[in-house]
Amino acid sequence: MSSIRLEGVVKKFYPDRPLFFRKSSLSSAIFALDHVYLEIKDGETMGVIGPTGCGKTTLLKVIAGLEKIEKGKVYFGNKDVTRLRPRERGIGMVFQTYALYPHMVTRENLAFPFRLRRWPEHMIDEKIEFTANTLGVGFRELLGRMPRTLSQGQKQRVALGRCIIRNPSVFLLDEPLSSLDAKLRIKTRMEIKKILRKFSVTTVYVTHDQSEAVALSHRIAIMREGKIEQVGTFEEVYNHPVNLFVAGFVGDPSMNLLQLTLAEKRGELIMGEPVYNLKIKVPKEWERKLREKEMVGKDLVFGIRPEHIELGKNKSSNGTFTFRAKVEDREVTINNKAHLFLRIGHHRLLATLENYRYLPAPGEEADFTFSVNKGKVFNKENGLALIS
Ligand code: ATP
Repeated sequence: MSSIRLEGVVKKFYPDRPLFFRKSSLSSAIFALDHVYLEIKDGETMGVIGPTGCGKTTLLKVIAGLEKIEKGKVYFGNKDVTRLRPRERGIGMVFQTYALYPHMVTRENLAFPFRLRRWPEHMIDEKIEFTANTLGVGFRELLGRMPRTLSQGQKQRVALGRCIIRNPSVFLLDEPLSSLDAKLRIKTRMEIKKILRKFSVTTVYVTHDQSEAVALSHRIAIMREGKIEQVGTFEEVYNHPVNLFVAGFVGDPSMNLLQLTLAEKRGELIMGEPVYNLKIKVPKEWERKLREKEMVGKDLVFGIRPEHIELGKNKSSNGTFTFRAKVEDREVTINNKAHLFLRIGHHRLLATLENYRYLPAPGEEADFTFSVNKGKVFNKENGLALIS
């Protein structure tokens, strides 16, 4: 087992460069990884999320040694592995397309790397026995079956088995569940979680599915355009996003973001905009920070999560903001939450309600309330969090 550390890693691609031109000033580079610093602790599972094309797969390939880098270093523990070839790194990889050898039954798929190294039969049997036990109920029945007779979920388990059997010191998983249906995906992710926790293998888990990253990972890294924007537990990145991008990306549905201006009136700070007479009083505890950052008179973005908006007025408590909005549409989810799509002037907001007694219909107007201090504030100019 070992930790993984990336220090200032740069990986560029030249998509419009013909293959035979190694260097050409005509082609423009894509920074698939742009000075990436990331540490994954020994035994930790790090989920990596981000929009398509942000560099997630490239990050995995660089850790695996499948892509050469222009700059920076990759360490496993204290060992510099930057120049080591993939098979010298002791990694196990599972991809979305888990290429099993189609002409071999599961047992042979698992045994293959050991046969290549001419291991004695009884030792291979022990390895297979151990892997079958680890992968739990039902795996043993798959040992005699050809890949074409297996379901997607079963193939995925065999691919995992093939990875585990080699006892890797680092586990790299790239969207391993994306070809499974929703039910099987949840079941399989729980199985993967059990295995990861049992072996405490240092793991990097790339996924499009945030809930998968949350379920499996100790911490999550959020990437954008080749850069790591924030690393933390889900609680940290969800409740304390460092910038607008993370605030908007983490969470489903995503945070409501209102573009407002900070003004001072009779000694009080107000976030608002004149057109629709929106005026949100800034909580006392935020004032000092906003003044220190010289934000008075400047544009900012106020973020409030849909689940923090309640239906109805709440005059009793201080520090709340009540507004009247038109319900444009509504959706009730299968777990009995209601999403209300609201409009105040040109602003669109989403409110997610639980335990509601009634729901306003599309076209109706209704009052809504949120506690202002549950919101976040960002500098509109650079996107950085001011209050988070
Ligand atoms: P997705 O979520 O869609 O799988 P990703 O976050 O995994 O995307 P990468 O596959 O790492 O993204 O790609 C990062 C960037 O590098 C993209 O702009 C992609 O087009 C580019 N890229 C990746 N591989 C190559 C390649 N072999 N040649 C040229 N450009 C590449």
